[in-house]
Amino acid sequence: MAVMSSVPGPATAGEVFSLIRDGRARTRSDVGRLTGLSRTAVAARIASLLESGLVVEGVEEEREPSTGGRPPVGLRFNRDAGVVLAGAIGRSRTQLGVCDLNGGVLATNDLEQEVGAAPDDLMPQVLAGFTDLLKEAGRRVTDVRAVGLSIPGTVELERGASLDSPIMAGWNGVELAPYLEKLTGGRVPVFVDNDANVMALSERRGHLERHRDLLFVKASTGIGVGIVTDGRLLRGALGAAGEIGHNKIAAAQGLPCRCGDTGCLEAVAAGWALVQAARTGGHEITHVRDLVALAVKGDADARHLVRVAGRRIGEVVASTVNVLNPEAVVVGGDLAQAYDPFVAGLRESLYSQASALATRELVIVPVTHGEQSGVVGCAALAIREVLDSAAVDRALLDAD
Ligand SMILES: [Zn+2]
Repeated sequence: MAVMSSVPGPATAGEVFSLIRDGRARTRSDVGRLTGLSRTAVAARIASLLESGLVVEGVEEEREPSTGGRPPVGLRFNRDAGVVLAGAIGRSRTQLGVCDLNGGVLATNDLEQEVGAAPDDLMPQVLAGFTDLLKEAGRRVTDVRAVGLSIPGTVELERGASLDSPIMAGWNGVELAPYLEKLTGGRVPVFVDNDANVMALSERRGHLERHRDLLFVKASTGIGVGIVTDGRLLRGALGAAGEIGHNKIAAAQGLPCRCGDTGCLEAVAAGWALVQAARTGGHEITHVRDLVALAVKGDADARHLVRVAGRRIGEVVASTVNVLNPEAVVVGGDLAQAYDPFVAGLRESLYSQASALATRELVIVPVTHGEQSGVVGCAALAIREVLDSAAVDRALLDAD
């Protein structure tokens, strides 16, 4: 058994909740042993957690295969004590979900939209979609504890708005939380982050269980990375960390990018650029997912385009790997659905251009939650904020 560390100082109910939630404490005596709290103090904290519904006592329903050997009755986190709404907003497609408090997807739906739709057009559709999904999941709007949204480009965290993103023109500075008020009455917090960042967070139930330092490469219509170092998302001074799509690379010299500049990685490796290249080559496709479908079917041109894109992205990822020395590079996004040619290209440049030491134990792995990683990540973003110990303490105080 792993060495258990105790919580310093008198543990709050929120801290006791965290011990129960991550499975370290299953009984009152576990809580006592881990926190050093008296029996009476433990009882008081457990009572308020039971009352809140976040913790329940008893046998877990058989929703997952039993791991065996557990005591039949105990304290456990109640993932059904509420739901979070998750919305991964893209340029041409938005994925919506209703998730339980453990991040499990209860209902999900895709919205196909006009490329570049403005918030005033798209957000009402997002709200209608959430309403339908709540119904489908058999949950009420009063069950919603938080909303997590992602958008491409840099996000100003405090305002929950796009920050100077050249490709999200109509969205810049537009706060997204007010749109949700129509549904939630402003009762629940809304969190917004960048798409690659939330996809990195989706790995909390995945590769982050094994790796504390991880680079998530999102290769889709756009390109970006989400960075987790020592278990924490690294966002940078303005939240613009990981925007590698507009790194200048030699292969793109002189080529126009959708950001208005020339010479960017995206101009030779992003989904939008590959669609243009494929169309010039005579393939009647409109979206990167069409190209990926061709590649998966074995079309030689499509596989070549995807492989070369992987190689170009690998050039920039190689520098990032040298700077951050991650344990794993997780590959996700539409383009990565053509995993074999994409990763073959990525490996070529990554291993030849990053240092031998930085790549000695590096693993390259596919995204854990596949096409749902955006939704799972948005849920993880919201859950992380509303279920951390301090947030739970605040919620218990408010309930008093
Ligand atoms: Zn650019």
